[in-house]
Amino acid sequence: MAGTDTPLMQQWREAKARHPDALVFFRVGDFYEMFYEDAEEGARLLGLTLTSRNNGAAAAVPLAGVPVRARDEYLERLVRLGRRVAVCEQMEEASEAKGLVRREVVETITPGAVLSDALLSDRRNNFLVALWAANGPGAGAGAGSGWAIAAVDASTGEVVVIPDAGEGIEAELAKLEPAELLVPASWEGRALPIEGASVTHRPDWLFDLSHAQGEVLRRYHVHSPVGFGFESADAAGLCALGALLTYLAEVQPVALRSLRPPRIERPGESMALDEMTRRNLELTEPLRPDLTGPDARPSTLLGVIDETVTPMGARLLRRWLLAPLVVPEPIWRRQEAVAELVDGAPTRRALRAELKPIRDLERLAGKVAAGRVTPREVGALRASLAQLPALRDALTEAASPLLAALRDALDPLDDVRARIERALADEPPATLGDGGAIRQGWDAELDELRGMRDGAVDFIAGLQTRERERTGIPSLKVGFNRVFGYYLEVTRAHSAKVPDDYVRKQTLANGERYFTPELKQWEEKVLGAEERIATREAALFAELRQSIALEVGRIQASADRVAQLDVLVGLAELAERRGYVCPDVHTGYALDIRGGRHPVVETMMQREDFIPNDVVLAEDARVMILTGPNMAGKSTLLRQVGLIQLLAQVGSFVPATRAKLPVADRIFTRVGASDNLVRGQSTFMVEMNETASILHGATQQSLVLLDEIGRGTATFDGVSIAWAVTEHLHERVRAKVVFATHYHELTQLADQLDAVVNFNVSIRESGDDIVFLRRLEPGGADRSYGIEVGRLAGLPRDVVARAREILAELEGAHTAGGRGLGRVGARRPAAAATDQLMLFPAADSALVRRLRELDPNRITPLEAIALLASLRAEAVGDSPSASERNPVDGASGETR
Ligand code: ADP
Ligand code: MG
Repeated sequence: MAGTDTPLMQQWREAKARHPDALVFFRVGDFYEMFYEDAEEGARLLGLTLTSRNNGAAAAVPLAGVPVRARDEYLERLVRLGRRVAVCEQMEEASEAKGLVRREVVETITPGAVLSDALLSDRRNNFLVALWAANGPGAGAGAGSGWAIAAVDASTGEVVVIPDAGEGIEAELAKLEPAELLVPASWEGRALPIEGASVTHRPDWLFDLSHAQGEVLRRYHVHSPVGFGFESADAAGLCALGALLTYLAEVQPVALRSLRPPRIERPGESMALDEMTRRNLELTEPLRPDLTGPDARPSTLLGVIDETVTPMGARLLRRWLLAPLVVPEPIWRRQEAVAELVDGAPTRRALRAELKPIRDLERLAGKVAAGRVTPREVGALRASLAQLPALRDALTEAASPLLAALRDALDPLDDVRARIERALADEPPATLGDGGAIRQGWDAELDELRGMRDGAVDFIAGLQTRERERTGIPSLKVGFNRVFGYYLEVTRAHSAKVPDDYVRKQTLANGERYFTPELKQWEEKVLGAEERIATREAALFAELRQSIALEVGRIQASADRVAQLDVLVGLAELAERRGYVCPDVHTGYALDIRGGRHPVVETMMQREDFIPNDVVLAEDARVMILTGPNMAGKSTLLRQVGLIQLLAQVGSFVPATRAKLPVADRIFTRVGASDNLVRGQSTFMVEMNETASILHGATQQSLVLLDEIGRGTATFDGVSIAWAVTEHLHERVRAKVVFATHYHELTQLADQLDAVVNFNVSIRESGDDIVFLRRLEPGGADRSYGIEVGRLAGLPRDVVARAREILAELEGAHTAGGRGLGRVGARRPAAAATDQLMLFPAADSALVRRLRELDPNRITPLEAIALLASLRAEAVGDSPSASERNPVDGASGETR
């Protein structure tokens, strides 16, 4: 069948054969067309009409098309759906082509390899990530399988390599928030350490060291990877990077032009935040996306702390937040810088004002290198560069080492800006085709052509007056339109006066349009000049672009510094605006937060409505059991501790009146299954998996936040697990722990473990009402107040009344005999001594004492049976006077 295809369809087949896994956008004039199965899929996904195209002698071909001007819109939708699109362009003008126009796939748009603004968010990076492990996945996370990561943001040129992510692979990946993962083909069907990203498979040999290393050297024009900081043990990192570059060259070759040197990261430089912690602390994504804070900002930590004013700054802050520092010195460096900017309000204001007009330098630089920059964007680059000297000036007095270093390293790029200034017009057009991109006076030839054109245009404009005189037609007009060119227009009333040399060109409803040989001649001059102007301008613009492209590395370096400055200034602004203080970050153990606030929740209410709280976790009080009724504020307090700790390690000030914080190696946050709003599908198994990973991963330097762990199962199971987990964390791990729970049973832990302390978020009862005080107080809560909360939530009056009755019955039954609890399971009456007895027999209970005193070697079988019956009777509570009829005591005399 293909043999009878038209040449165009053959050309399409070739393109499609090379990109079988992509939809091919095949440029035909003003449209991108899709054929066959692509057409069907494209029509379905994009809601396009499916038509057909004649295919010579062969059967008609299914066809769907999108207009070229709407390209990005459609690409965005396809990429969001996880599809790949190979864009096949016409490589020559139809007029120049001999026969069929040459077409080539110039780029493949995939979720991880996009360059156009429409497909990117300016406030976050878009990482394409290659993943490699010597033993492949499935050996189980942490099986020492030598995970390596290489990541590139094609739009900014940043390249990151993590040669040995080790056990932290999931957390390291999470930091990058990959849009697309590249893995060896042989991994198909195997579980990867991250979900959600679109996955691309490529042949295994791309990841071979010999291929990969060669690729790295070739693309970076270096002789050895050592200069980048690769060490001999980093082979896996090279494998991942080489594969990544090969793939990038396949899908988005122009992006290679703005690649920056790889930045090598090693675990241990920043904190690994696992996915559950990121989610539960709502760092970048809200648990419930429907809730937004003031200014419609998402109610996330990032949403609240982001006071940056440039896209680079916003992206960097996001990365800082996802990679808190774990070494004190760099934290102190950031703090000093922020502190200086908090104190120096005039400097901070000046910097913010100078930063604000700076556009996305990183992406503009990338576009320049890729050859896809418009004159207006070069204008934006010029305007942005023009801010740099002022930024430096504003930092003249900067004393903190980080600010001073940024100032000294900030290349103001005067030469680049001056070059643009000289060549580019003041108000460059949106596209090159609009004309007027190049400044008057820059190029003599261009100026001459423009002079010719303007002269001709002037001449034609003068024609109107002259022809009016010559013909005596006062309403005669000279005009221009794109189809007919220049014309002389005469209304029907005056047709009689039209001279002989007028040639009719177009008839209108109430007049005629003419040209004259003279007008024609001038018109040709204008049009000829226009064409030469366009060619000349294009050449000059390309020259300008290329000369800027040579400096892309310098622009990126300055962009980097601008980003850091923006983040630091933003953090200072935040501290000032929201009343944060500089925490004392130390290398010791104790955490001491005074007047701490939840940075996000406090913004959702009037400032004075949020109740600050003190939290101290020290060596001798390192596990806090936090009890209190539903809605008391337990989860808020727990997260508040985590967020303050995290902010401190980002280098930020914190929402408190005073804070002393150790450097945590990890922050773990887990939320019990039924409390976990994020994953509706979450099961108890997931909850236990997560708990297990904490018990394995936490150290003495970790901060562990557990919210209602053990809730996803029956009460006894749940309490038992929670109990054992807490014991383990207390005894073995010795981490700092806040455990929010509604299981009061856990408050007994404080009696048994020396560094466990009970706290509760207090309420006040007034009659049947309860008032949430939101105040953290020493001691455990004594009951759950579930019914009161239910009443506040609007349960019908009779249901509330009935619930009180039932509760009273259950409590009565349980305190009377201890049988009720087993039967009702989840019901938990007031903490009475019998509760504790049931669950965790106290050492001195009568039963235990009797058992202890017993010597099985010295009683007869008969006595044993009698004893058993008596013990059971006592346990069940049938025999209040059980001890009086003690068979062992009673029988002992006789046997002797
Ligand atoms: P719990 O986990 O104990 O059920 P939450 O932490 O979910 O309770 O808190 C319930 C609500 O109480 C929160 O949504 C918040 O609006 C409010 N809240 C919590 N802590 C405070 C506080 N310190 N000051 C003011 N309001 C608070
Ligand atoms: Mg809660």
